[in-house]
Amino acid sequence: MNSRVFHRHCHSTLPVAVRGEGAYLFDQNGKAYLDASGGAAVSCLGHNHAGVRAALHHQIDSLAYAHSAFFTTESAELLADKLAEHAPGDLNHTYFLSGGSEAVEAALKLARQYFLEIGQPQRTRFISRRQSYHGNTLGALAVGGNIWRRAPFDPLLIPAEHIAPCYSYRDKRAHETPFEYGQRVANELEERLLVVGPDTVIAFIAEPVVGATAGALTAEEGYFSRIREICNQYGVLLILDEVMCGMGRTGTLFAHEQEGIHADIVTIAKGLGAGYQPIGAMLASDRVYDAVSNGSGFFQHGHTYMGHATATAGALAVLNAIQNENLLPNVVHKGNLLMDRLHQRFAENVHVGDIRGRGLFIGLELVKDKETKQPFDPVTQLHARIKNRAMELGLICYPMSGTIDGTHGHHILLAPPFIISTEQVDELVDKLGNSIESVIKEVTSGASC
Ligand code: PMP
Repeated sequence: MNSRVFHRHCHSTLPVAVRGEGAYLFDQNGKAYLDASGGAAVSCLGHNHAGVRAALHHQIDSLAYAHSAFFTTESAELLADKLAEHAPGDLNHTYFLSGGSEAVEAALKLARQYFLEIGQPQRTRFISRRQSYHGNTLGALAVGGNIWRRAPFDPLLIPAEHIAPCYSYRDKRAHETPFEYGQRVANELEERLLVVGPDTVIAFIAEPVVGATAGALTAEEGYFSRIREICNQYGVLLILDEVMCGMGRTGTLFAHEQEGIHADIVTIAKGLGAGYQPIGAMLASDRVYDAVSNGSGFFQHGHTYMGHATATAGALAVLNAIQNENLLPNVVHKGNLLMDRLHQRFAENVHVGDIRGRGLFIGLELVKDKETKQPFDPVTQLHARIKNRAMELGLICYPMSGTIDGTHGHHILLAPPFIISTEQVDELVDKLGNSIESVIKEVTSGASC
C-alpha cells in the first residue's frame, strides 16, 4: 500500500491492523499477533473488551464531547472520584488530558505555578534522572534523560539537571548492599540540590519503575523514601511519572504504592484508557491544588480535549473492569510466572544480561557479554531487528535502545494484558526466545540486516 500517513519510520511498510480480540491483534491477512507489550504498555485489558465497548457506545449515544470551559460531565466526575479514592496520599484533584506528554507538561507547569502562588518565584529548575523518558513535547523532553531522543532538539530545551538513575545492574558496586546502593544514588539528589541552590529548584521528577529507556527498571528498597525525605527537607516537589508503570501494570493500581511514599503530583496515561480512547491525567495533592485554588484560583494551562466525555467514560469502564474482574492478582501471579519462564528459557544465554521488572512489566537487557555487561554496538540495531523478527513470528514486543552515558544498550520491554493466560505466557516466551536467539545468531556471526 502506498501510505500517505506520515509514519515515524518513513520507509517502513507496516501491516494493517484490522481486528483485536483479547491478547491478540490481527492484520489484513488474518495473521494473529500475541500483543505482549500492549503496544507501548497501553492495552492492559487486551483488545475488544465488551464492557469498555458498551460504555463508549453509551456515552457517544448521549454526548461525545463538551468543552471543559463550559461543562463538566458525569463520566469525568466519576473517574476523578474513583482515582482520588484509590490513589495513595491526598491526590484528590485530577486534571484530565489526552496523553502522557500532555500530563507531564501540565505537571511541570502546575509545579512552577505552585511556587508562584506561595511567593517563591526564584524556583525555576527541574531535576530528573539520566535513565528516564517523560514524553516527546519540549518540556517533557527537557526533563527526560535519553540522550538520543534529546540531541536534535537540545538547543530548544529548558535547562534541566540530570542525576543518576537507580540502576543496580549497571552501577551497583560489588561491596554495596542493594540498600546502600539505593541510598548512594538517592543522595545524588541532595548533592545536586546543594550545587545548584536548593531554593532554585521546583521539583524532582522520576518514574517509579523506569519504562521506555531501560526496560522495567525498579528502584532498590529505600531509594524513593530517601528521595521523598530530601524533597521535604529542601521544599522541592516530588512528581512521579506513572504514565507507563501506573494503572495496575506492576500489580498495584499506582506503582508508587509499593514504595511506601506519597507524591505531590502524579501523571498517568497509557493503561488509564487501555487504548480505547486517548487519555492522560495529572493528579495533584491537596497542598498543591489548594495553593492555586486559594491563590489566583486559576491554573494557567489547558487543552481543547481535556476532560473529554467519551475518553473519560472509556477510562472509567477500564478502571471498573480492573476492579470488578479482580485483575490485579492476575498481574502479580502471571508476572511471576512470566519472570520464571524467562529465567528458565534464557538461563544459558550469555546475551541476556538482565531480566527485571515487577508485575506484568518486565524488561530484558541484551549484552554482548554477560560477564563484562558490554552492550552490543548500536549499529547492530539489535532491538529493532528483534521487534521485526518477533512480528514475523506473530509476537508484539517493545524494543528500546537506552542510552548509558553515551553508549546504547538494547532492551526489550514486555507489558502483556492483565488477562494473559498461562498458555499465552508460554507462547510469548517461546516466540520471544526464538526471535532473540535467531537475531543474535545473525549478529554474532556477522550476517547483515
Ligand atoms: N512518561 C512516560 C513514563 C512514558 O513512558 C511516556 C510514553 N512512553 C510518556 C511520558 C509520554 O506519553 P505519550 O506518548 O502518551 O505522550
